[in-house]
Amino acid sequence: MKLVRERNAIVKNPRGKLRVALVYPQRYRAGVANLGMQIVYAMLNQREEVYAERFYLDVHEGVRSIETRSPLRDFEVIAVCWQFEPDALNLLSMLERGGVPLYRGERRQVVLAGGPCAVNPLPLADFVDAFYIGEAEAGVGEVVEALHAGERSQVLEELASLDYFYVPGVKEHATRVLAEKLAPLPVHQVVSEAGAFGESYLLEVARGCTRSCRFCLGGYIFRPRRERDVGEVEALVREWADSEVRKVALLGASVTDYAHLERLTGVLSDVRMQVSAPSLRADALTSEFLEMLVRSGQRTVTIAPESCEELRLRLNKRLTDDVLMEAVRMCSEAGVRNLKLYMMYGLPGERREHLEAAAALVREVAKAFRGRVRVSLSPFIPKPHTPLQRCGFAGVGELRRRFRLFRKLLGGVEVEGESPRASWVQAVIARGGRELGEVLLGVHRRGSGEWRRAPAPERELSGELPWECIDVRISRGFFEEEYRRYLAGEASPECFPGCRRCGACT
Ligand code: SF4
Repeated sequence: MKLVRERNAIVKNPRGKLRVALVYPQRYRAGVANLGMQIVYAMLNQREEVYAERFYLDVHEGVRSIETRSPLRDFEVIAVCWQFEPDALNLLSMLERGGVPLYRGERRQVVLAGGPCAVNPLPLADFVDAFYIGEAEAGVGEVVEALHAGERSQVLEELASLDYFYVPGVKEHATRVLAEKLAPLPVHQVVSEAGAFGESYLLEVARGCTRSCRFCLGGYIFRPRRERDVGEVEALVREWADSEVRKVALLGASVTDYAHLERLTGVLSDVRMQVSAPSLRADALTSEFLEMLVRSGQRTVTIAPESCEELRLRLNKRLTDDVLMEAVRMCSEAGVRNLKLYMMYGLPGERREHLEAAAALVREVAKAFRGRVRVSLSPFIPKPHTPLQRCGFAGVGELRRRFRLFRKLLGGVEVEGESPRASWVQAVIARGGRELGEVLLGVHRRGSGEWRRAPAPERELSGELPWECIDVRISRGFFEEEYRRYLAGEASPECFPGCRRCGACT
């Protein structure tokens, strides 16, 4: 893709400014729909002395910025959003094609990385100068100050003095930083028809999740859950309603848990903007909300049963099959055309009867729902900083076998799946240590045969974990207790006022 059509890109004269390349090492479609990128882009460009420009994997050959088509090597600071594990390889490719030396010690630019995957910085520690651990709003001001420190080595010293930076070779530990109150969302967001949600503004109503689903990285690294002020949300929607963009995508781990959902639904209906909600919790749907989505033109609702009831409850997703079926009926009655179900397989302790029960549930959903049902089937990947972080990955051969079995058990229900091989790569990078840097470089230079040198993700882990150099503000004891409860099939409570269980609330 060479050209993009978008609105609200920020244009400045770069002369005399601190030039920051904001790199999203994935396709434009995903990158322009990423809220973290929008927030950092707006916050940096609010500052007169800074000009931040964006880079995506598939826009402009030669790795040039969207705004001024400047080559990557011309930027003093390269700030990377590391959203998905395999983007580590895309980053190496973008740096090299952009004329930026890969190794830390060999370049004049400062390369920073943040985003969810930075909570295990080790696989990229040979190539990234400093990792920002936590939410961008909380530290952008301090980071810009540090970037003005002068020489590269002074900049790195300054960054290392901030608790939330992991700076390889200088300070190899960090503590997650979070915004106590969510900063106002940018009004003038970059929007494009080519984005994953179409030409939509992104409206995050809450961040974090009160559930403790034991496999979910986002459920831990965005704790505690915080809601956006409803006055701010309403003002934003009304301002957007006066613009030419007619769509809003509601984001957040649990949009339908929003305390002011009814008021939000009313405002969105009132301004007649189209609304989409990419993923919904089945136990928190309301008919009004679903009807608003359908009126707005949303054709597909996505919900995530994850597995059969027994394993779902062990994962601490407190959603019974009965409640799920009720949600399916509500979707049908509201006129939803397509239902997409996210399911996982390869979970620790999973047996054939679990797959049979999960497939039976899907078949029941397909019978009860009036439209088209599709299943998206992904292998379980143990993620760092989650209760299941020590569990082994099921293995490519075994996953292929289970996928075939599951598909057969589903009868005729449509199924799509992430390839077990791609998931294996993700599992390797997710829990990789420092040694993975060489493997990544080998794969980047010589191709996928080099993965044979990677540590097997099928191993269960014991003892100290390499990524414990990052304190995500969740205690080790909490993760251990949650893992014990997974094995024992015991539930844990949701977040509640006054709770001190995991350590994230002080
Ligand atoms: S301390 Fe309790 S309320 Fe706070 S994030 Fe942890 S589990 Fe939730």
